[in-house]
Amino acid sequence: MMSCAKVKKYYQNYSLYTYNRVGPVFVRGKGSWLWDCAGKKYLDLFPGWGVGVLGHCHPAVVKTIGEQSRRLIHLPNNLFFEQQAVLAEQIVKNSFPSRVFFSNSGAESVEGALKITRLFGAGKRYKVITMRDSFHGRTFAAMSATGQAKYRKPFKPVVPGFSEARLNDIRSVRRVTDNKTVAVMLELVQGEGGVNIAGKDFIVALSAWCRKNGMLLIVDEVQTGMGRTGKLFAYEHYGITPDIMVLSKGLGAGFPIGAIVVGRHLCDLVKPGLHASTFGGSPLATAVSKTVFDTIKKERLPAAAAKSGAYLRACLMRLRDKFAFIREVRGMGLMQGMELDVKTFPLFLKIMENRVIVNSTHDYVMRIMPALNVSREEIDRGLKIIEKVFKGV
Ligand code: PLP
Repeated sequence: MMSCAKVKKYYQNYSLYTYNRVGPVFVRGKGSWLWDCAGKKYLDLFPGWGVGVLGHCHPAVVKTIGEQSRRLIHLPNNLFFEQQAVLAEQIVKNSFPSRVFFSNSGAESVEGALKITRLFGAGKRYKVITMRDSFHGRTFAAMSATGQAKYRKPFKPVVPGFSEARLNDIRSVRRVTDNKTVAVMLELVQGEGGVNIAGKDFIVALSAWCRKNGMLLIVDEVQTGMGRTGKLFAYEHYGITPDIMVLSKGLGAGFPIGAIVVGRHLCDLVKPGLHASTFGGSPLATAVSKTVFDTIKKERLPAAAAKSGAYLRACLMRLRDKFAFIREVRGMGLMQGMELDVKTFPLFLKIMENRVIVNSTHDYVMRIMPALNVSREEIDRGLKIIEKVFKGV
């Protein structure tokens, strides 16, 4: 095995500098734990930027990867294979009347959903309303849809046709709706934008506004999906049905896969040849994702996320009572954030020095999104370290 210093040297010499990488070189993971090249153990309370719903290297996922990779890894999408068909059925049966297109990532799923809005608009309507502080990915249209100027500015001109409204402000949605508007796309809990929760009244009013104006409602559940918020999909908390849902991250629990779940009433718009992906929904990816579904069901992980999330939240509220610089604790299930009066990045680094991994986003928000099977002892241990670091602020 390469030495840690050599791995970092290779990064320095050969990798494009798009990431602010920190910490040691990691070599192994299991559940909520990671080991670095010196054999030191870290508690990972933010596995894979929200990907790790089952934690690292869940035995069921490892088994499926082994078995399926010996049988069949890839086939192109002009051929039939069981694994993809079975996963599509699983997604449809667990969501709303729909059909599924498989992609490889969140942004790619967002792109596909946006293409469907153009088909729906039939050349007459094309504008999509998205929310301030949203995050939908880094490809061109997904980035253009993202409600944060800092991501778009260096790449201007961006894809036209996006208008910005504010989360939980239905008037702002009404204000930017015009006769060219074809859809609204949003995250029900904004992740990267600082763990901002859409209120139920807002979503119900938004859904009604979309219906009234013949506009599509697209929910980006790339981060909130697969049990994270205490339900399999976050839209279930709101008593609404979206027209389109995009999924990724937890769908493969570490294996790259994305999905566009398209309401039945829209499916006739998408004719053969209008959209495609070479790798999307391969036998290996879809077999793994089916195992993720089965495991989520078997281990009752949405309920576990609701319960552990309530526990984590109560712990964070206690921390808030102790430290005046914690402005707010907010979240849903195991997607929790703390907004601080101080920048969170230096704190994230200090916490990592103490071998716990959390996340710093939107400058002032500390995000905690553990595996859905995280234990209370693990939450306690992480919180103890966070408290220790906060004492030094
Ligand atoms: N949508 C949401 C809500 C996300 O959180 C992300 C990534 O963090 C994306 C889309 C983009 O996903 P990916 O990085 O897989 O392209």
